[in-house]
Amino acid sequence: MPSTHRRPRTVDTSRHFCPHAGCRYRGWLGWGNLRANGHPSGGPWRQFHCTACDGYFLETHGTIFHGKQAAVELLVRVLACLAEGLGIRATARVFEVAPHTVLQWLVEAAEQLRAFSAYFLCNLHLEQLQLDEVYAVLRDCKAGAISDEEAIKRLERSPAWVWTAMDPTSKLLVVVEVGSRTLAMAQRVVHQVTQVLARDCVPLFLTDGLKDYGTALLTHFGHWTHPARRQATGPRPKPRWMPLPELLYAQVVKSYRRRRIVDVQHHVVFGTRLAIEQVLTACGWTINTAFVERLNLDIRQRVAAIGRRVNTLCQGEAGLRDQLALFQTYHNFVLPHASLRQALLIPEATNGKGSARLWRPCTPAMAAGLTDHVWTLREVLLFRVPPWPQTQRV
Ligand SMILES: [Zn+2]
Repeated sequence: MPSTHRRPRTVDTSRHFCPHAGCRYRGWLGWGNLRANGHPSGGPWRQFHCTACDGYFLETHGTIFHGKQAAVELLVRVLACLAEGLGIRATARVFEVAPHTVLQWLVEAAEQLRAFSAYFLCNLHLEQLQLDEVYAVLRDCKAGAISDEEAIKRLERSPAWVWTAMDPTSKLLVVVEVGSRTLAMAQRVVHQVTQVLARDCVPLFLTDGLKDYGTALLTHFGHWTHPARRQATGPRPKPRWMPLPELLYAQVVKSYRRRRIVDVQHHVVFGTRLAIEQVLTACGWTINTAFVERLNLDIRQRVAAIGRRVNTLCQGEAGLRDQLALFQTYHNFVLPHASLRQALLIPEATNGKGSARLWRPCTPAMAAGLTDHVWTLREVLLFRVPPWPQTQRV
């Protein structure tokens, strides 16, 4: 610990909150009720004291590290390995821990990371969203061995489809869900999208040709209209549920012949082609679903259960969900995205003889304005997620 030259050490308490039930300050950040209280019995973690309720808690309260004997570095490395796409058994071999320990850590981390994503991904203002589904590989069919079209035929009712919604501008992975390829799932995914969007935000939607998206979007982005009377007498026309006038939605329909794409058609479902093209040309794009398809490739690479044939440990739907929770946070907050990097006005010198740094790395969460820096996985796992959203920049 660096010397403070006899000034009292100030400890940043801004990311902490009192967890004690019955405390009037419970769950709130930055109310000045916390004092650092040193490391109890020389342990690795700092203790905080809440002056409002006179309670004590550790800085790891509510995180995966709370009450764990395992070394922090080991836990972080194991989860980083899983996030990079190594399977559970392989990770267990690398670090010489039991596979079930790795699985247990993944389950616990996933629960925390779901809360982490829910805390940050709310009240979003997005201009566009691309939605897609990607099939997860079951035991008897290898990735790439069959085309999406064949997979659709074979796996229509299987639960192993991963649904994704992403913002092509910031690359933020907004929703990731596992389920069958049905209308009920489309409704669920679109519902989750509405939960993370700001109340008045209606982005441009682009999807593949699955017709259930149209129904789900109409359900969530519609309103009652009262058609005008045509005749002076007779019953009033019934009110009709119509898409919101600002709703824009287009489909990219690909036709395959012998696993090759032979035709791509664009169907405008809600809104006008002109309005949709106006939103897209602002980014220099045309109607496409390329960005979400690229993201699905990343998922295949980094989520072992989807990408290739795997051992039995992570094949259940729950295990797949946990892997995806890890992927979502890793992709949004930890991994800088090459296409988002920002040119530095003045090149920064690097240590040693390396060439000067010309770019500032940028993650999807930074591009979406949710945070101002690239997070480490350790930092993510140490973040105590407050019980409700608060307007504090991190
Ligand atoms: Zn308290």
